[in-house]
Amino acid sequence: MDPDSWKDMMAAVQAFHDKHDFKNTGGEELRYRIALMAEELGEISACVTKGKPVEALAEECADLLILLMGTAIAADFDLREHFWTKMEKIMQREARMVDGTIRVSEFRD
Ligand SMILES: [Mg+2]
Repeated sequence: MDPDSWKDMMAAVQAFHDKHDFKNTGGEELRYRIALMAEELGEISACVTKGKPVEALAEECADLLILLMGTAIAADFDLREHFWTKMEKIMQREARMVDGTIRVSEFRD
């Protein structure tokens, strides 16, 4: 197992799904997964708004990443491929300052 390998990371998430038979027990149902991801995003937010240590923030970010990777398994898409396609796209986007904060987007005005 190579901890730097995306393939091995995905295999670990697949093993987690297999361990609990998520495929046949509702664990790969997309509406449920979206609710879980929203829950983790709330936990990430609380780490920031409650000033928790960075280790807590890192753990909640890992929770969300694992859920995202599992959603790629559940919905059967290649997250690694889409990551690189999207990175290429956003690297071409314009940045603007909006109310003192940078925003990178496809501005349509
Ligand atoms: Mg969490």
